[in-house]
Order: sequence, then C-alpha cells, then structure tokens
Amino acid sequence: MTATESPFSERGGPIQVFYAPLDATRRPMISHAEGIYMWDTAGKRYLDATSGPVVSNIGHGNKAVLAAMAEQAGKVCYASRALFENEANIALAERVAGLAGPGFERVFVVSGGSEATEAAIKLARQYAVAKGEAGRWKVLARNPGYHGATLGAAAVTGDPETDAVFEPVMRIMPRVPAPFTYRTPGNIDADTHARDCAQALETAILEEGPDSVLAFIMEPVGGLATGALVAPDHYYTAVREICTRHGVLLIFDEVMSGAGRTGRFLAAEHWPDARPDMVTLAKGVAAGYTPLGMVLASRGMVQTVVDAGGFMHGHTYSANPLSCAIGDAVLREVMENDLIGNAARMGALLGERLQALAAQSGIVGDVRGLGLLRAIEIVADKTTKTPFPPSRKTIARIVQIGLEKGLLLYSRSTAGGRYGEWLMMTPPLTLTEPQLDEMMALLTEVLSTFEAEAR
Ligand code: PLP
Repeated sequence: MTATESPFSERGGPIQVFYAPLDATRRPMISHAEGIYMWDTAGKRYLDATSGPVVSNIGHGNKAVLAAMAEQAGKVCYASRALFENEANIALAERVAGLAGPGFERVFVVSGGSEATEAAIKLARQYAVAKGEAGRWKVLARNPGYHGATLGAAAVTGDPETDAVFEPVMRIMPRVPAPFTYRTPGNIDADTHARDCAQALETAILEEGPDSVLAFIMEPVGGLATGALVAPDHYYTAVREICTRHGVLLIFDEVMSGAGRTGRFLAAEHWPDARPDMVTLAKGVAAGYTPLGMVLASRGMVQTVVDAGGFMHGHTYSANPLSCAIGDAVLREVMENDLIGNAARMGALLGERLQALAAQSGIVGDVRGLGLLRAIEIVADKTTKTPFPPSRKTIARIVQIGLEKGLLLYSRSTAGGRYGEWLMMTPPLTLTEPQLDEMMALLTEVLSTFEAEAR
C-alpha cells in the first residue's frame, strides 16, 4: 500500500464524530519520536501539545521502558491466563493498587479504554447479581460523554449522532446532562447548573426505578467530549451521595484523567468525599508503549463475584505479560521522576499561560481543566460565546495550521457548535518550562494566523 492509498482509518467519518476532519489534507507520515517531539518522513519536527489523544504521558523513546520491554520480550511475551500466573501482571496490579489507595485493591487488566468500560459494566452487573439484585442493569451516563467505541461502551457514550446510527444493534442507556460550566442553559451560573445536573441524576434514577439502576458512569475531569470539563466541587459530593442513597455504583472513567495527568494519580483524589466504587484506566497508564487498560475495584466487590463463581469476562490478551511489564515500567518512570508532581506544577503554569492567552486573543472564550488536562474553547465572539459558523471548519483549519507550523493538536468540534469547539492542551507529563514556552509561542502563532484568516 502506498502513502496515498488509505487504510481503513479515514478521519471525520460518521463513526469518529469526536475528531475534527482534516479536510482534503494528507496527514504526514510518522518517522520517529523523542520526548515531546515527533518527526515525519520529510524530516519536519512537531511539538506534541496533546500527547496524541492524551496518551504519551512520559513522552517518546523512554530508555527505561524500552529496556523493560526488551527484557520481558526476551523472557515471554504471552502466556495463557488459564494455565499460568504471570509475575508482570501481579507486579503491575500491586503497583496500581498501591497508587490508587483504599477501595481499589483489585485490578483487572485489559487492552484499552473501551475494554475497560466493558469490563467495568460487566463486573458491576455480576456483582449486583451475586448480591441478589438481579433487577439492576441500567447504567446511567452523561450527555455528552465518552467511554469508548465498542457497543457496550457506546451504549453509555452520550452522542446523538452515534446513537442514531448504532441504536438497532445496542441498548442505549439513559443519559443525564453533563454540568458544562461555560455554556449553561439560559446562561445560568455554573453552580446552579451543576446543582440542576446532580438533581437530574436523581430524577433519572427515580424515573427509571432505583431498583433497576446498576451504575452511573462519568469522567471526573472531562476528556474530548466535554473539553476538560471540571464541575464545581459540590457536584461530585452530590453525585456520590445520590448514588450511595440509591445503591447505585459510581464508576469514574479515568481513561484520560488517570495515571497522574491531573496532578494526582487518580483525578478522583481531588474530591476525597466523592470516592467512586470503580475506576477505569487506559491511555497514559502505558503511555502509548503498548495497548493497556484496567478496571479497579474493591477487594470486597471482587470477592463477592469470585465467591459466586468468578468473573465471567476476559480477552485473549487480558493481562498479557508483555503489556503488563511495559505498563509497570511506565508507572515506575512516572513515580521515580515525580511526573505527577510535575503535572501539578506545570499544569498550574499552563493554566496561567492559557488564561493570559485568552485575555489577549479574540477567539479563546474559555480555559478549563486540571493539571495537564486542559482545554481552550474557540469562539467567534467572546461576549456572546458564539462559535464560528460550521462552514468555516474552524477546528479542522486550526489543526491544519498547527501541522504546518509544527504543533500537534487534538480537538473536538460539536455539530453546528451545539456544545462549542475546543482544543485539548495536554502535553506529556515530562513537560519542562522551556518546552511550555515553546508550545505557547507556537499556539499563539497558530491562533493568530487563524484569527487573521477568519476576520
Ligand atoms: N474513556 C475515555 C474517557 C476516553 O477518552 C476514551 C478514548 O478516548 C475511552 C474511554 C476509550 O478508550 P480506547 O480508545 O482506548 O478504547
């Protein structure tokens, strides 16, 4: 296949609705990468402002991880879980459980975020059945939200476009509104809106019938679907209290926000009184060195399922030794180099710099996020918060200008600006201050180039 023929991965099709199409643009061919930089085969260098889709937490070419990868590959890459225990799986599980803390003593390892969502839902369901609550099966989710592309994950992923296409082949679960802070209904204040959203969760549980509701899944800090959305603190407390009162399991999808990105190992740590019952991780947990995801649950929950006959779930590659060893090496690098602390420090600085950019730019309407999980919202009019018209293909054009200037961006545009459009600002957790300066200079140039074109 030549570079001009495309494999089955075109962007902007009906399935990849969270991705801005790079209209009529050929993506560069990747050659190699080092730290936060990537090079194409023509020799052009790019600064990765978003860690790909928020994956490359420790940057590229990490020598310790490459060595661990080679060491494990030299021992054994694969061994059937049905026949062998594997040390890499146990080491990874122990490390993650230690980092996640009380309530997350058990770790089930899979190959990515969507698989983690599936496993979380199935574990929750089996737990309910094992407890004699077989009537519970509905998993409430937020709209918009994103929990993966497989059918079970898509059933809890809030997007009307994908729902419309896939509805016949899946059972779409009830949705409640996500507590947006910038665009609120009728422009009410964010606090009131967040209270309304928490109330909407309780109303939905009551309407569905509390005894039929199994779980509520949400991203504690939003990913691409909401652009690093952070709700007011009281929202998290209220959601926890509502779930507890109705016996509903609270699942935090930390596929994007976990593994240190927000300045804590789990974003959940920012709200200690809203600790979830289960957490999913992927992306940064192996930082792009291997496909990896996981579900964290309590010792008691897993024991109940084990006592009832064992977890009825698994994939051929679940907990494979090679991926586990790589994930363990990635997290060792995160801890030994204090990358979580760096995410907190550099994240605070990034937040300040983005606020300063917003103050002087005519098109940055909002800055939000935590640690190194941040986003900026692009608008045509900052006073009215009006997005650019869809015909301008704003986000696609900004991503294109970024490519031309050597800045890699990750973005979302909602159809017709329904929720707005934004760029994720999520560089690797290894980011240094000079690299932050370079990233901000490039971003400023990209946005002013677009603004000059658009006005
Ligand atoms: N959950 C969240 C919050 C995500 O951001 C993603 C991917 O973007 C997923 C789940 C699905 O992960 P994966 O693409 O690894 O299946």
